[in-house]
Amino acid sequence: MSFLVEDRAEAPEQHAKPGTAVGIDRGVRFAAVTSDGDFHDRAFVTGGESLRYRRLQQRLARSKKGSANRRKTVAAMNRVMGRVTDRRGDFCAQVAGRITAKNELVALEDLKTRNMSASASGTVAEPGRRVAQKRGLNKAILNKGWHRLEQALAGAARYTGTRLVKVNPAYTSQRCSACGFVTENNRESQAVFRCKAAGCGHAENADVNAAKNIRYAGGQSVSACGDLGDTRSAKQEPVGRATGRTRAAARSADPGIPVL
Ligand SMILES: [Zn+2]
Repeated sequence: MSFLVEDRAEAPEQHAKPGTAVGIDRGVRFAAVTSDGDFHDRAFVTGGESLRYRRLQQRLARSKKGSANRRKTVAAMNRVMGRVTDRRGDFCAQVAGRITAKNELVALEDLKTRNMSASASGTVAEPGRRVAQKRGLNKAILNKGWHRLEQALAGAARYTGTRLVKVNPAYTSQRCSACGFVTENNRESQAVFRCKAAGCGHAENADVNAAKNIRYAGGQSVSACGDLGDTRSAKQEPVGRATGRTRAAARSADPGIPVL
């Protein structure tokens, strides 16, 4: 069940910190890593809950269909999952609140996220669908709240005047955020990015590097729309004035190349 409530809150004309921008890389290891180098994550399922859920699953398997015991077991499973879902929701709201308060522009990858809250809540609606019940907890552990974070950011952005931009996720993890060089070899491991371009050698945490590319692409997509109050096209830029903006505009055909 959902309600729509008019809270009369209006987005401020301008963000409290104009000109600020951040990119967010949503990952499997860390729920959200920002271009500022902040790692946001927490465990959504406690060890005790895992154990209890597994025991309840076993009890469910032994219980008779339609019995009162089975109903009680299902209710207990749903309570555990409800706590997990609440924890994830709190986490996303907190992260979204912090990030939107600090940034006028927030860029995210345009990922095909689904609202997992229904499935990940593990609600055992149909007794007999044991596969779904078994998967419930694993799914909940794997669910880093990508979709929920996006929703929370959109909600929080209304109060801060933050602009939320979604960018093409192609090559964000393979591109060097310092020089723009792209190769899959740049990613040395899950955690380490090291640029293979001659004379660059830029090295940093792979998720932070990706988040910087996302921030850059977000800034590009906004300026491409003329939303920053600058309607000049790249071709009208004075030649030879190698400002950051000029370089950025020249590269705007490829929105993934960062200019720092
Ligand atoms: Zn490089």
